[in-house]
Amino acid sequence: MLTQPAPSIPRVRFGAGLRHTVAEEVARLGCKHALVLSTPQQCDSAMAVAEALGDNAAGIFARATMHTPVEISDEAVTHLRDTGADCVIAIGGGSTTGLGKAIALRTDVPQIVVPTTYAGSEATPILGQTENGIKTTLTDPKVQPETILYDPELVTSLPMDMTVTSALNAIAHAAEALYAENRTDHSTALAIEGMQHFADGLPAVLENPSDVTAREKTLRGAYACGAVLGQVGMALHHKLCHTLGGSLNLPHADTHAIILPHAIHYNAQAVPDLLTPITDIFDGTAPGPALHAFATKMNAPLALQDLGVTQDNLDHAADLATQKPYPNPAPITRDGIRQLLQAAWSGTAPT
Ligand code: NAD
Repeated sequence: MLTQPAPSIPRVRFGAGLRHTVAEEVARLGCKHALVLSTPQQCDSAMAVAEALGDNAAGIFARATMHTPVEISDEAVTHLRDTGADCVIAIGGGSTTGLGKAIALRTDVPQIVVPTTYAGSEATPILGQTENGIKTTLTDPKVQPETILYDPELVTSLPMDMTVTSALNAIAHAAEALYAENRTDHSTALAIEGMQHFADGLPAVLENPSDVTAREKTLRGAYACGAVLGQVGMALHHKLCHTLGGSLNLPHADTHAIILPHAIHYNAQAVPDLLTPITDIFDGTAPGPALHAFATKMNAPLALQDLGVTQDNLDHAADLATQKPYPNPAPITRDGIRQLLQAAWSGTAPT
């Protein structure tokens, strides 16, 4: 296991039943009253956390929303102040973690996160927020959660399609970290560790979604992949996913799952050696095809056409994704990106 570097490292724990220890964790932060956050769909989980908090519960705000709209964050801050809460506990996926981060940005209260997907946001000082339909992203140490409790029992309820796309979303952070301009030996080791956890754990989860040991393995993968996202810059894959997601309003994790093998294949022409760990971990002959074969085995979505994307959409996305230069190992050409998108549209293995 890797040792973690010193600055702004959260307290991270893994274990079945950890959700029951929230009161202890609140006290450890020197706090007394926690506001519990969730989406409306996970209100029951928020209520269970509030119950475990007992007198330390200040209330529940169960209105976390995808893409962290600022008006919801502002309402949550008002609620925090009205209840006298001095910390927040976010139980849920990236949307709920995002709300906790948005509150911390505005108030500097400490955050405890109890993740229930593999998005990995809890491991980063990054916050994406939406205002008037426009999403902007910032990095600020204030938004890095202080405590993360990975309780694998909570992830057993994650539907299998989301389990797989969320895992591939996390793997994408690690895959691009291998060739990030500002990568370090530590970020590379963390990326490899994260992908290995998913390669080991996800097939077992697919066989038995309630396998708590396998779920814990995948949560360890989520933490490593999320931490790597917080340490290094992303390139072509993330750029394409944001462009497609933003212009066509496609589902976030599905888009990542579909694009990943093709973006990695594109960059493997330029940096084959840096991407060898992917070939080894996913047991293939080349990084892009190895990821495609793994996604196929996991029953992941493979084709943009299945998300309703048209050929015209591909032309527009290729234009948008090649407008502004950004760091990427392989040169970005309009023809190259259009071909990549065509392969992702049809869902065939990259060749
Ligand atoms: P999500 O948090 O939006 O969750 C999707 C749905 O699944 C919600 O209805 C949620 O309540 C439900 N859900 C979550 N866990 C569940 C479980 N265990 N059982 C049953 N239902 C469950 O989805 P996500 O993919 O985790 O997060 C996506 C968001 O996170 C995006 O907005 C993305 O931009 C953001 N994100 C941010 C970072 C960062 O570093 N800032 C990193 C990754 C993702």
